[in-house]
Amino acid sequence: MKIIFHHDFYRVYTSDPAAAPERMESIVKVISGHYEFVEPTAAREEDIAAVHSPSHIEHVKGLGIYSISALAAGGAIQAAFLGLKDPCFALIRPPGHHASADTSWGFCYFNNMAVALEKLKTEKAIKKAFVLDIDFHFGDGTVNIFKGKDYVSIFNPSSNNREDYLEAIAVVLGDLQSDVIGISAGFDNHRNDWGGLLETEDYVTIGRMVKEKCNRENCGYFAILEGGYKHEVLGHNVMALLNGMAGR
Ligand SMILES: [Zn+2]
Repeated sequence: MKIIFHHDFYRVYTSDPAAAPERMESIVKVISGHYEFVEPTAAREEDIAAVHSPSHIEHVKGLGIYSISALAAGGAIQAAFLGLKDPCFALIRPPGHHASADTSWGFCYFNNMAVALEKLKTEKAIKKAFVLDIDFHFGDGTVNIFKGKDYVSIFNPSSNNREDYLEAIAVVLGDLQSDVIGISAGFDNHRNDWGGLLETEDYVTIGRMVKEKCNRENCGYFAILEGGYKHEVLGHNVMALLNGMAGR
């Protein structure tokens, strides 16, 4: 299992919590040595333009964060393609699931998941895709972008009860038919983070559920980092998901 990561993601590109100093370091510190790291290349502008309007791309350029945002989107593309063969995690920022075609908010600029899945579809690498968005917040951007594109289905589990949350994922995965599963991996629903719900071991469970589903039915799977803001637990939660996805 590979981790897509670039040193440029250490850069503090804005003052929001996703761009906070030490956030990426807190993850790398825990997972390095356990998984192989691979450097991404930036997404091409035409790949970003497949899901975003020209005016939104110009807006991101105007903010001075185009290059880091394109690198994140490129990391997601790479994770998605690698994920068709072996599980893969894109350790990237800025996150993306609050980015719609023409607008974005919530520390997001380009929708990394949408750019990646649209690229897989355009290259005819997949016919159907599924997004499991486990971030604390509803992934409105991803839902907006794929509205009317019926090759993608999306599930944002929401429950105030841990067991129900995990059971809801199991139920949806049970019936699913997809060539690839992309996990929008936000960790801000951890008990010590903003959402306060999940235990660290629950990320192992989620990763394992996706792995077992895909092993059974021969689909690819990958995850990309979305939210997660409590640096003291974030790395351990990422590690838990990786271990579940890798079957460790
Ligand atoms: Zn979030």
